Amino acid sequence: MSKFKILPGVFRKSGSGDLCFVFYKGGILAKKVGEDLHIPSFDDIKRLNIEYEGEFFLGELEEKSCFALEATKEAALPKEFGMISLHDVGAFMNEEVFAAAGRAEEILNWDEKHRFCGRCGARTEDKEDELAKVCPSCGNIMYPVICPAIIVGITKGDKLLLAHNKNFKNNMYSIIAGFVEAGETLESAVKREVFEEVGIKVKNIRYYKSSSWPFPNSLMLGFFAEYDSGEIKVDGVEIMEAGWFTKDNFPKGLPKKYSLARQIINEITSKKL
Ligand SMILES: [Zn+2]
Repeated sequence: MSKFKILPGVFRKSGSGDLCFVFYKGGILAKKVGEDLHIPSFDDIKRLNIEYEGEFFLGELEEKSCFALEATKEAALPKEFGMISLHDVGAFMNEEVFAAAGRAEEILNWDEKHRFCGRCGARTEDKEDELAKVCPSCGNIMYPVICPAIIVGITKGDKLLLAHNKNFKNNMYSIIAGFVEAGETLESAVKREVFEEVGIKVKNIRYYKSSSWPFPNSLMLGFFAEYDSGEIKVDGVEIMEAGWFTKDNFPKGLPKKYSLARQIINEITSKKL
């Protein structure tokens, strides 16, 4: 599997064989080849007469340049093409394609929300030498915004804390997560979120790894922690149920394999439970 590579400061123009992430109303254009889903090429986009304004160079995927664009109107699609969600990209394609699609989603989202200057209201322009928008009137420069969030797998002996959030579908359970507040450290965010959502204190907080989570623009920072004190008491606002689970009695619904949540659960399950 070839890596998705971001090349900062490099701006390319699309060519016919390049890959193209076409978005329309939140969906992503995919091409079915046999049982597999693929990202279409610019040849496909031309053939389908897809109309769009502007394109963003994302980086290299499968050693090809890849781009993001937003279609300006619905196109009639032959049956081998269809619109899928970003979650479907994560579930049915590989993690490198998911990473590129996530970057595409975040950039298009940022582009749409920064057409006008947040300081003086003038129309912005694309900056020439980096991925940013600049206001020609007041000089304000706007970069894509990433919101850091922590996610933490908490263990107590051979048990893992799993919780059901009111927004989870299909009775899914996962580990605790939440956004980092302005001015807060990651460790403080871990302690605060855990205490707010399930009422316990944690110790031995250790960083694991991070993952982009483009729903819509988070960077998830994964941690492990151990139970310190307190009884589980859910907040009843975000978290509706929570408990300690051994690997033999995990709930049926766990996060999808492409999520950092699932990778943390798997890591803990393979080493400690
Ligand atoms: Zn301005």
